[in-house]
Amino acid sequence: MANLGIEINRKCPIRFKVFIIKTLDSVYCSPKCSKVVNKRKKNKEKKEALFVTYAQNVPGIREYLTARQVVAIYGIERSTLYYTVWLS
Ligand SMILES: [Zn+2]
Repeated sequence: MANLGIEINRKCPIRFKVFIIKTLDSVYCSPKCSKVVNKRKKNKEKKEALFVTYAQNVPGIREYLTARQVVAIYGIERSTLYYTVWLS
């Protein structure tokens, strides 16, 4: 790890805490924050994989779609769906 010779402050996107960066690539204030980001990323990937599986199992012929099916098939957030329904 090279010493930059100057102090550069950056705000951690997780805890919103200002910290002095150790390298120019530093984004998070601590390893704990990095873990939080990795965990969120993994959970998101898991959720998306689950949606893909769910969307593939929706029958081809149907009279209506449930909210869960719409979210899985069209890849939108549930809140967007409800907001769109509310607008129409
Ligand atoms: Zn942090």
